[in-house]
Amino acid sequence: MRRLFLALPVMLAALWLMVLPVPAVAQGFTALARVMPQDSRLTVDGRGGVQLDLRLSQGVPYRIFTLDAPRRLVLDFQEVDWTGLSAQDFLATSRVRNIRFGGYVPGWSRMVLELAEPMEVAAASMTIDTVSAAAALTVQLVPTDAEAFATAAGAPRDARLDLPPPTVLQDRPPRDPEAPLVVMLDPGHGGLDPGAETDGGVMEKELMLDFAYDLGERLVRSGAFEVLLTREGDYFVSLERRIAMAHQQGADLFLSLHADSVSEGMAHGTVVYTLSKEASDVASVKLAERHDRADLLSGSDLSNVDDEVTDVLLDLARQETHPRSTALAQSVIEALMEQGGPVNRRPLRSAGFSVLKSADIPSILIELGFMSSPRDLENLTNPAWRNKAAQAILQGLLDWREEDTARRALVRQ
Ligand SMILES: [Zn+2]
Repeated sequence: MRRLFLALPVMLAALWLMVLPVPAVAQGFTALARVMPQDSRLTVDGRGGVQLDLRLSQGVPYRIFTLDAPRRLVLDFQEVDWTGLSAQDFLATSRVRNIRFGGYVPGWSRMVLELAEPMEVAAASMTIDTVSAAAALTVQLVPTDAEAFATAAGAPRDARLDLPPPTVLQDRPPRDPEAPLVVMLDPGHGGLDPGAETDGGVMEKELMLDFAYDLGERLVRSGAFEVLLTREGDYFVSLERRIAMAHQQGADLFLSLHADSVSEGMAHGTVVYTLSKEASDVASVKLAERHDRADLLSGSDLSNVDDEVTDVLLDLARQETHPRSTALAQSVIEALMEQGGPVNRRPLRSAGFSVLKSADIPSILIELGFMSSPRDLENLTNPAWRNKAAQAILQGLLDWREEDTARRALVRQ
């Protein structure tokens, strides 16, 4: 064993990005580091702290930092294959509430520990076995107080892992009314955030990515739309980043694609959501919270949210955009009903979804069906049904476009 990294002084640094020398040993058929679950664990140490031991098939660059509210420890790795690691087996202490791992951005993987109490990194080291090239990462967390935790918390910026900061509310040149509208399709979840999941292993993040591609193709073929995607593979994109992409790329419309799951009741059928401060019902509040929470637990840093001044401007812009979003939602629901649905008993709802907060882009969130309903799940996984649903959404967008153009022409007179 060769010790490459000794324990580091921690107080100062929220970030260590360590580039390891390429081991001279052959690494098999893939350059991807694999986790070795049997040698990886999270344990309590005698001094009230927690020790994380993570064994990988080879060394990779990594970084560690903490985030507050809720308190989390985040580890980023150049890509790691997590196959075989079970969160339940791994998590052997109540000092860590929750653990998530998976793809982050292309080429990078992330592990997030939700801490039950404030703890700081006392030491972190990775050692590489010279014979097998396997890497052992050890991280020691020790108790600290809430204030010290909050001061040290924050995501370091790194061009390889972050998009440039979002630009807000730039003036847009008037668009040629005949030109295709730019639609940002937003397949929900991704990477370490799987979204809803059935016992049979069907994952919302996969269903929605497939559906986004089908729908996108249909929209483009109609000639009336250009299509962009907030993610094109199985990786994590924060809610804030999804909105920023829509702005940066000049989207005219934002469609977030999801499939809900409920543990109680027999809910089924498509529901289309618009943004509202007051949710239309308790289930909508819970759904919006689940989505925002999944984002938080995947390591989003919300420490730089809009200050109050920009909030006022944003609210004004939202007042103009909101009726257009509602009309869009109604148009999509009508088209889905015409095509045979099924749509939910209350198909139009509203809630405080973060991903719908673009002030100047009409935005809706489509819960295509409930994965908890056997009938909906069958539909969601059936190519014929999905084709019909995509066709209906296209029709809804075409109808809306026509009405919206007419309505805006009236407003301008
Ligand atoms: Zn979802």
